Amino acid sequence: MKNMMEIAGVKVVALIAKCGSPLYVYDEAQIEAQIEAYQNHFVSPMFETEVIYASKAFTCQALLDKLIQYDLSLDVVSGGELYVASKGKFNPQRIYFHGNNKTKEELRQALTYQVKTIVVDNVYEVDELINMSNELKTKVHVLIRLNPKVEAHTHEYIMTANADSKFGISVDLKDDIYGMITQINNSEYVCFDGFHSHIGSQIFERQGFVEAIHKMCQFINHTNIALDMKVKVLNIGGGFGVTYTSEDKPTPTPLMCKTLIEAIQNNVEKYDLQLEKVCMEPGRSIVAEAGYTLYEVGFIKQTKNKQFAFINGGMADNIRPALYGAKYHCEIANKMNETKTQVYDIAGKCCESGDIIIHEAHLPKVESSDILAVYSTGAYGSSMASNYNRINRLGVVFVKDGNARMVVKPETYEQQIQNDCDEEITL
Ligand SMILES: *Cc1c(COP(=O)(O)O)cnc(C)c1O
Repeated sequence: MKNMMEIAGVKVVALIAKCGSPLYVYDEAQIEAQIEAYQNHFVSPMFETEVIYASKAFTCQALLDKLIQYDLSLDVVSGGELYVASKGKFNPQRIYFHGNNKTKEELRQALTYQVKTIVVDNVYEVDELINMSNELKTKVHVLIRLNPKVEAHTHEYIMTANADSKFGISVDLKDDIYGMITQINNSEYVCFDGFHSHIGSQIFERQGFVEAIHKMCQFINHTNIALDMKVKVLNIGGGFGVTYTSEDKPTPTPLMCKTLIEAIQNNVEKYDLQLEKVCMEPGRSIVAEAGYTLYEVGFIKQTKNKQFAFINGGMADNIRPALYGAKYHCEIANKMNETKTQVYDIAGKCCESGDIIIHEAHLPKVESSDILAVYSTGAYGSSMASNYNRINRLGVVFVKDGNARMVVKPETYEQQIQNDCDEEITL
């Protein structure tokens, strides 16, 4: 291995010298390989399949361009995500709009942009959607988000299908769900396509997904019988795990896809379902491992029991360690071959004791001005970033085949205050 870290043939130290730090860097080929893995393995002779990227994991125009190029669909969960998609020229007929509490304005925005599918989360949303579609005379398709009540083995905050989840309608509430479908079927512009589930995030094992698929298919069967219909679409959501540290052992994408497809096919045969299309919604697993955050080390601090290496970023660019104890791996990008003799807590510069990006990182002796590279920060890093302590949001660079291009400029202090004003409000 070279002593100086490279990402896709681009020397990290040279990149920082040019662009400054901290900086998010994405290896484009790695994103492309993940997209292709899903597209090549999530296929079946029994039904059409569709891979939908969950845009909350990370978006920018360059990424949207890539998704369009690779013919992926898009999942959005807010007016803002829809706005970004629409400005990015994303085909609205390939967009799914999610959310447990979509506002009237967001529903209107989705219908006006002629989004193909709204994933309805509750009974009240159906009324709202039908009224609005009548008013705007706009056709829209609907999936109903069910809670299949499967407890995926993951962190509580990213578990979404336990009995008391805020998301979706429990499969126990059959009559409510049938009522929603009947109401939709009686409407002029809204078309019921099928069901959606999403059981959580950063899930390694296949078991939870297989269980959820079984419950969903069972429910589809009951629905077909009870309402004398053929449910056409099943969307099994995302949540596929990735490697942050050597402790993480996610199921490889091809095997995960194969298992999901087989589970769905088995159920389709068992219940004689007439599914036309099956969708999945990976977010994290498309972009996480392709992303790196590069920091410069400032001061080193020795306390009674600990040694800290301070970096010029932290919880503002990566909230996940502070939010739910997420773990990461790091290296000193200019000391890749040096023996790891030391243990450091990698601490950010924010005014929170919890602003520790990595606890007990094993590294060579760290010095001021070293470049610290944190791995697998491509998902829920930039998308969850804040301006806490008035820190600017970072720029984003894409690298491929030895070339680098800036795809998001670093924010400036002026941009941070551009909306400050003092205007009288007449009530
Ligand atoms: C967040 C989310 C996803 C993507 O989850 P990942 O863990 O990033 O794959 C997919 N579908 C829905 C509805 C979501 O909320």
